[in-house]
Amino acid sequence: MESIISIDNQYVANTYARFPLELVSGEGSILTDVNGKKYIDMGSGIGVSCLGFNDEDWKKAVIEQISKVQHTSNLYYTSPCALLAKALCERTGMRKVFFSNSGAESNECAIKAARKYSAEKKGDDCYTVITLKNSFHGRTLTTLSATGQDVFHKLFNPLTPGFVHTEANDSDALVKLVDEVNPAAIMIECVQGEGGVLPLTMEFAATVQSLATEKDIPLVVDEVQTGNGRTGTLYAYMQYGLTPDVVSTAKGLGGGLPIGATLLGEKMENVLKAGDHGSTYGGNPVCAAGALNVIERLDDAFLAEVKTKSEYVFTELSQAKGVTAVSGMGLMIGIKTVKDAKSVVNACIEKGVICLTAKDKVRLLPALNIPMPVLKEAIAVIKAVCAEGVE
Ligand SMILES: *Cc1c(COP(=O)(O)O)cnc(C)c1O
Repeated sequence: MESIISIDNQYVANTYARFPLELVSGEGSILTDVNGKKYIDMGSGIGVSCLGFNDEDWKKAVIEQISKVQHTSNLYYTSPCALLAKALCERTGMRKVFFSNSGAESNECAIKAARKYSAEKKGDDCYTVITLKNSFHGRTLTTLSATGQDVFHKLFNPLTPGFVHTEANDSDALVKLVDEVNPAAIMIECVQGEGGVLPLTMEFAATVQSLATEKDIPLVVDEVQTGNGRTGTLYAYMQYGLTPDVVSTAKGLGGGLPIGATLLGEKMENVLKAGDHGSTYGGNPVCAAGALNVIERLDDAFLAEVKTKSEYVFTELSQAKGVTAVSGMGLMIGIKTVKDAKSVVNACIEKGVICLTAKDKVRLLPALNIPMPVLKEAIAVIKAVCAEGVE
């Protein structure tokens, strides 16, 4: 019989450099491949499966909803969508939520809302969005434009106009650029994920906030990767003392089902009117039921455990042989290794631990509820691989 890997290679578009790993099942933070080999999962499908696999409570919420109604469109009301929006607003102080299906779409909505706000307030020529160099905001043409990394732009021109990129953590450059371009929005990630797990400095975040407030520039925080407990608080902006006008999120929100959310704050809540934006699947009741379970589970006790596990990983790795730097926040961790990151990840897979990379770093995004003993086992393997053959 032809292998799944060869069928996939023949018929699925070549947009991914997949690892030669066919995964068939999961339980908690353990994945099993087609040969029965088990792996500790330190990637959670790029920060998506935040409660691990087969979580009983989450599965119950999803199955209950899937047995009732699976999809209705946004022409009608369903309870998971309304209750999820309520939970998100109550937990953040934001006022309204637009639901979509992915991170890129949550950013599309954020950009549309910010541009409309600024166009109405300051005129049609106020449309430029300032984002950061080395950022990542998605793969649609507009979110590619927002993404401050030229490697993703090549051969896809013309991109959506009206985006400029400035150096992260350079407050002087930002102040100057705001004066020059009359921005419709400033859009940031608190921790650049795809860019190499790089947190913003508190000083830079404070500059962003004060410019946004003084000049009435919508502040958009992209929490697609940092959100939903990943950094040890419900959203990362909460640790920076920011008051965003728009928060976009996805990845961990659905706990494994596709859902994106754009949270609109007080000054943005009535910007988008009927017909201004939409999504056929957005707020799908099954995905929303999963997401509601995720948000309900992320209480103070749960988030405190994320912080405890984070401290353990930072302590273990920052003094490990073959590791030159550890960066990140919560359970979003970047490891600069003496050896090439890709070779470390391959050696870890060999030894039964699945990790990610981000730029030149090894990246860890384990399930937020990974049991401490499992986490310890994975970190021991990662440390051994990083140290192996290093003087
Ligand atoms: C992953 C990611 C996106 C894109 O999300 P998709 O669901 O792949 O569209 C956008 N912004 C950030 C910060 C991300 O990490």
